[in-house]
Amino acid sequence: GDRTARVDGGAGEIGELARSFNAMSEKLAETERQRQAMVSDVAHELRTPLGTITGWLEATQDGLADPDPHLIGMLLEESLLLQRLVDDLHDLAQADAGTLKLHPEPIALDDVVDQVVNARQNREVLLRAETTPVHLTADPVRLRQALGNLVANAVRYTPPGGEVVVRLFRSQDSAVLEVADTGTGIAPGDLPHVFDRFWRADRSRSRTTGGSGLGLAITRHLVEAHGGTVSVTSEPGLGSTFRISLPA
Ligand code: ADP
Repeated sequence: GDRTARVDGGAGEIGELARSFNAMSEKLAETERQRQAMVSDVAHELRTPLGTITGWLEATQDGLADPDPHLIGMLLEESLLLQRLVDDLHDLAQADAGTLKLHPEPIALDDVVDQVVNARQNREVLLRAETTPVHLTADPVRLRQALGNLVANAVRYTPPGGEVVVRLFRSQDSAVLEVADTGTGIAPGDLPHVFDRFWRADRSRSRTTGGSGLGLAITRHLVEAHGGTVSVTSEPGLGSTFRISLPA
């Protein structure tokens, strides 16, 4: 329900005070609603993998399932999912608290691209890099994470036979990283939401492909912590391009 306190002060100075009090009160109520939604989303995301793990362990204990390599592999996959989720939540909590520390050093950004592209090679989608040498001061671990999230998504949301290209180039005073895919694309109405926490275009479908809806929120935070920006353009059915721009 609406627990926003309201004061009606009429015109003049008291009215002015009343209006700013009301605005503050609405802001607090909105923050509280967001906090509640976040806790509810976290609980929902934890419940599914935990339920699977618990269910199969109980079935094994009751002699209804064999602890064979297939079962162990499935349990491991679910527990890795939980671990990723908890790591992501930890990063976002640190970001909110302002305690997520960057460790900037002089780096070759093209090396970061190569590392991410090598790590994400797969059998389904052709993944390649087009880079030029770009040197700047940044946290290589966090940039790998930020770019890794974009590349993981591009591969995840591109059907087999498709292509993902990671480009690195200079543009005026910026270093630009582009991740272009030939995947499902994103509906225009969905574009403003993709960087929101826990937002997913299709909850049930994305669930099975392993996403928690936190990757892009983390990427945006890490890029902005470097003084950069991240944006997206997309053509449904043709593909999406995510673009990170860093001061260089
Ligand atoms: P998830 O873990 O679900 O991938 P993200 O925060 O990384 O969470 O992305 C949020 C949502 O944005 C995804 O669930 C998906 O609907 C959409 N999305 C992200 N990247 C792409 C992409 N390259 N192509 C199509 N949709 C995407």
